[in-house]
Amino acid sequence: MSSTQREIRVLRYDLRPRLLQVSKVDRVTPRTARITLTGPDLDGFQTHDYADHVKLCFPEPGAALPTMPTMGERGIVPPPTDGPQPIFRDYTVRRFDAAASELDIDFVLHPHGIAGRWAADAAPGDSLGVLGPRGSHLVPDDFDWYLLAGDETALPAIGRRLAELAEARPTARVQAVVEVDGPAEEQELVRPPDTRLTWLHRDGAEAGGQERLYQALSEFTVPDGVGYVWVAGESGDLKPIRRHLRSLGLDRRHYKVDGYWKRGVVNHDHHADDA
Ligand SMILES: Cc1cc2nc3c(=O)[nH]c(=O)nc-3n(C[C@H](O)[C@H](O)[C@H](O)COP(=O)(O)OP(=O)(O)OC[C@H]3O[C@@H](n4cnc5c(N)ncnc54)[C@H](O)[C@@H]3O)c2cc1C
Repeated sequence: MSSTQREIRVLRYDLRPRLLQVSKVDRVTPRTARITLTGPDLDGFQTHDYADHVKLCFPEPGAALPTMPTMGERGIVPPPTDGPQPIFRDYTVRRFDAAASELDIDFVLHPHGIAGRWAADAAPGDSLGVLGPRGSHLVPDDFDWYLLAGDETALPAIGRRLAELAEARPTARVQAVVEVDGPAEEQELVRPPDTRLTWLHRDGAEAGGQERLYQALSEFTVPDGVGYVWVAGESGDLKPIRRHLRSLGLDRRHYKVDGYWKRGVVNHDHHADDA
């Protein structure tokens, strides 16, 4: 879905919990699993923008089924405090194919959290809950240039954006900067021909608490015309980047910096970083 004249539009969808099954698991790289979900509950699923995300609802370790949320007129009904609680984490819709009834989510495989560990062990037939997307922020295809940046948690959105621009506006001018562990974590990405894609390597250092992305973006010179900047990754890594983008005098509506996870924090709320 596209819109014009650089106006960002917001679409809202009905929030419905879906219980889906894993149909396929692919290792895109040694540390990224692409997990395909399917099931009759996917009927009516909507996604129209690259940064659309869902709340995945995970089973307790050792359980087969997740505790699903109950919906009321005002959204999620808080479960009784003495009973099992839904376990939510935010993930990007990497690809949705309504005809094939397939939803792809790309998981970074890290051993520190329930979601990372679930993905490492996931197999066809496993169940996973999906809530959302709540809506889409439609960033139009008619900006003069785009800058997309982040770590591997941002890569599903960056990969989807590049592929969608290649199809909808092959003449788009894009710079993309992605921080990953090393060369084995680089992915083949479908992209517009005029894309400058830079991979930054941590070379075995832990993710988070890094300055590589900031250093790369601080060397970015704003091209002519009106552009759109999207950056996501570890919350602390993004602070200097947010400050830097502010200092460039970009229109506030034309950049988004989103803390997708925070070192040492379980289930970081990305809205908490909004400034
Ligand atoms: C809008 C949005 C979209 C997102 N899309 C994706 C996506 O498509 N794919 C994806 O993999 N992630 C994505 N994330 C990030 C993901 O939600 C977090 O990484 C989440 O914390 C993972 O949950 P967990 O249960 O594994 O870890 P948690 O229980 O939340 O955290 C436990 C520990 O693990 C650490 N940790 C969390 N994530 C990572 C990581 N990536 N690397 C190293 N340590 C980590 C935490 O700092 C904490 O110390 C997205 C986040 C947001 C807000």
